[in-house]
Amino acid sequence: MAQNDRYNEETISKAINTKWAGKTVHFAKETDSTNSWIKRLAKEGAEHGTLAVAEFQSAGRGRFDRKWEAPEGSSIMMTLLLRPEFSPQYASMLTLVMGLAVAQAVEELGFEVSIKWPNDVVISRKKICGILTEMGTNGVKINYVLIGVGINVNLKEFPEEMQDKATSLILESGQEYDRNQVISQVMKYFEINYEKFVQTCDFTHLLEDYHKILANLNQPVRVLDGSKSFEGICRGIDEKGELLVEKQDKEITKVSAGEVSVRGLYSYV
Ligand code: ATP
Repeated sequence: MAQNDRYNEETISKAINTKWAGKTVHFAKETDSTNSWIKRLAKEGAEHGTLAVAEFQSAGRGRFDRKWEAPEGSSIMMTLLLRPEFSPQYASMLTLVMGLAVAQAVEELGFEVSIKWPNDVVISRKKICGILTEMGTNGVKINYVLIGVGINVNLKEFPEEMQDKATSLILESGQEYDRNQVISQVMKYFEINYEKFVQTCDFTHLLEDYHKILANLNQPVRVLDGSKSFEGICRGIDEKGELLVEKQDKEITKVSAGEVSVRGLYSYV
């Protein structure tokens, strides 16, 4: 870990300057996963905007239970707890709201960044951030939504099998970044984006920003759905956050997040 990289509950709280996003910070040297940890805090009554940050996760997860790996001291692993008033059908869109926030925060640091829909933030066609959203309901009402975020900040090396699709801020710039500041920027943009989102419970007020930063816009993509796949041109997202893919016959197929992965035709992005 960098000598000057002080990183704990106090330094993170001090850096955050929002109304509610990340207002209460919990920090652990090690946990199983920040999503599992904050789920426990949610059950004990933790409030909207609570943030759990860990220096190390022994069981970090991505979608489809894939592993999220990051060595101690180099990376941001955090989960934000939300208690939305809206109904459960809208919650999965929050992955995109967070993806946009991370991309905007990283862009402000000077990077050329894009979003690989639905849940990855990429630089130079490689992933610097993954997002995993989970929800708990009591029948028809949301009890909690958890948005887990892993950002590769000062991580200098990846296991061989990840080297062609993962990168970090330090690898892309040669410079170390203060994780407290990165978290603070992400919380700032998330709060702004979330407040736009809840006005309509969709992407009406975020579409323009999202399209500015979307990877593969108007480019060919391959959509992977289990063993099936199809190709088309990416035409952006609609208000519901679905990816619009134009097939050869010009018909537009709407793809829902959660079910699929997307690739560029010739590479990961
Ligand atoms: P894909 O990125 O293949 O489209 P996905 O979006 O479903 O899949 P996630 O759920 O975001 O992926 O994360 C899990 C995957 O991310 C793992 O399969 C692994 O390949 C990759 N991964 C794990 N740790 C990291 C990391 N620190 N940085 C970048 N990628 C990682």
